[in-house]
Amino acid sequence: MSEEQPKRKPGMPGPGSKEPKKGMNFYWVYALIATVLIAMLLFNSGSDGKPTDYSKFKQIADRGFIEKLQYDGVKAVIFLNDAGRDTLRQMNEIPAEGYQGFSKSSDLYFNIPPGEDFVKEINALGEAKKFRVEYLPPNEAAQSLLYWIIAIGIMIVAWVFIMRRVGGGGGPGGQIFNIGKSKAQLFEKGKGTQITFNDVAGLEGAKQEVQEIVDFLKHPKKYTELGAKIPKGALLVGPPGTGKTMLAKAVAGEAQVPFFSLSGSDFVEMFVGVGASRVRDLFRQAKEKAPAIIFIDEIDAIGRARSKSVNFGSNDERENTLNQLLTEMDGFGTNSGIIILAATNRADILDGALLRAGRFDRQIYVDMPDLNERVEIFQVHLKNVKRDDSVDVEFLAKQTPGFSGADIANICNEAALIAARKNRSTVGKEDFLDAVDRIIGGLEKKNKIITPGEKATIAYHESGHAIVSWLLEHASPLVKVTIVPRGRSLGAAWYLPEERQITTTEQIFDEMVAALGGRAAEEVAFGKISTGALSDLEKVTKQAYAMVSVYGLNKKIGNRSYYDSRGENQFTKPYSEETARVIDEEVSKIIELAYEKAKDILMKNKEKLDGLAKKLLEREVIFKDDLVEVLGERPWGERNTNPEPVV
Ligand code: ADP
Ligand code: ZN
Repeated sequence: MSEEQPKRKPGMPGPGSKEPKKGMNFYWVYALIATVLIAMLLFNSGSDGKPTDYSKFKQIADRGFIEKLQYDGVKAVIFLNDAGRDTLRQMNEIPAEGYQGFSKSSDLYFNIPPGEDFVKEINALGEAKKFRVEYLPPNEAAQSLLYWIIAIGIMIVAWVFIMRRVGGGGGPGGQIFNIGKSKAQLFEKGKGTQITFNDVAGLEGAKQEVQEIVDFLKHPKKYTELGAKIPKGALLVGPPGTGKTMLAKAVAGEAQVPFFSLSGSDFVEMFVGVGASRVRDLFRQAKEKAPAIIFIDEIDAIGRARSKSVNFGSNDERENTLNQLLTEMDGFGTNSGIIILAATNRADILDGALLRAGRFDRQIYVDMPDLNERVEIFQVHLKNVKRDDSVDVEFLAKQTPGFSGADIANICNEAALIAARKNRSTVGKEDFLDAVDRIIGGLEKKNKIITPGEKATIAYHESGHAIVSWLLEHASPLVKVTIVPRGRSLGAAWYLPEERQITTTEQIFDEMVAALGGRAAEEVAFGKISTGALSDLEKVTKQAYAMVSVYGLNKKIGNRSYYDSRGENQFTKPYSEETARVIDEEVSKIIELAYEKAKDILMKNKEKLDGLAKKLLEREVIFKDDLVEVLGERPWGERNTNPEPVV
């Protein structure tokens, strides 16, 4: 993931929530509700009729014009009878049409005069002139208004809550109107698209391929005049952190075109149809800005192969989204100047339709960097780091096999932080090595409580790994052994695995023996084994199963691979029960054989094991040179130069 574009999680108000434009939509709803309330109040007060006063009322009552009088604490309203209404209308005392209101309206009202006699007087008057007198509790009107406000308030709260849950980023309520909009981040020309190919280290092959895309965007005529169709999309395939996002940004930066960046998961929402509408919106926006690049990170979130064997139904929305994407890709002409780059770390699980000609017909592999590429990546990221002469870029690259570009960027930053914590003016080699350890193993836990007995067990365990791998021809050579607890591990033996593309049976087997060397040392030294070998056993078991059922390296099973690269058989095994039994048997055999070999080596070298464990208990960390001292030169010499820890 690139650092420049932090992703918003659904349900979390994004940085955009303070934007006035989005906020206004919401206040608009408030305003509407307030207007309705005010209107209701106005109408209600109008229904009381025309104002009059107490003495006038008495005159009207005397003439027998009143049907009913209602009063509360402050005012009384008069309902006239037909005769009264006619007469007063003729006298122009009340309007011809009468008042309109929500309830049956009264004709006149007056404020109750102060004094206690009022109630008695009107009751007497009512009796005499035969009209009803009713008392209305004063708070009734106010109460009903209060209920209204509470009810509406609850509705608003519920509404906002639902909208927040449903919508992605944006302000509260902003999603009411924006849910179907694409959430792509736009990097305009010259802003944020400043990354160029120079910032991307290594990846020569991939760069060359995307260079072509830059050329399409810059000089489309050159290609179309010859009748060539410009590709619509390219898929960047590779493990996370290898610079796919960076590469896509560099294309936009080099071609000087706007860059729409979003993640596949941004399309996915719990509402049906939202994903598809976001896709439409994204392409509409991109067409407005064409020529442009759309970058969809982690496209497998929507592009996974449409269900073949099992249909859960819940995938319908994802399929709709994918279909819409395919439609859009077919829909825009080859010359419209939009190129879609997508990244995934698993091209094999993508839907075949996506990879067809005319869609993502190019696949560009972005691999983990090799030694030389790591040197280049270090050079890029060390540009701004103040380091001293002890730092050798070649050495650092050798210490970091299997590290991605993102990991290396992280190491450079971490090393600077460590140096700053030590109040140093420059960053030294030690800081870089600490950073490497920290990134692989987690933080050192110097104050983790470990009993002396445990410490001895750990020392023997790690010494076991060290000695066994030292004495095996095909195991990777060691660089360092530590018993400093770090992260979740209590100690580690570091190897320099070869950077190789294929592995032989002997190499896998020797690695398994070395991994079991820890537990074997515990047994040889103390006669009992512990839970400390969990991760070793996990690794070994996986390797053994891979040997037998994936790589076809087992005689009994033969040249078979039950590997399912497309994930089609999630619920059924592609072999019989009988074969399953044989696989399990063979796996057990291999592992036990490896364990016996490890034990055998350690028994034959018991004094060396004791010596190394003792040294480790004293010093906590020992390096290759100390190993030579205890064990003598390694009989097979050195073939490779990259460390990897085995805990
Ligand atoms: P991806 O998209 O493949 O997961 P990114 O492109 O987001 O990886 O890379 C993350 C970070 O790692 C980048 O911002 C950059 O700092 C660093 N990085 C990765 N690969 C390279 C590279 N080849 N050269 C320089 N820096 C790199
Ligand atoms: Zn171990």
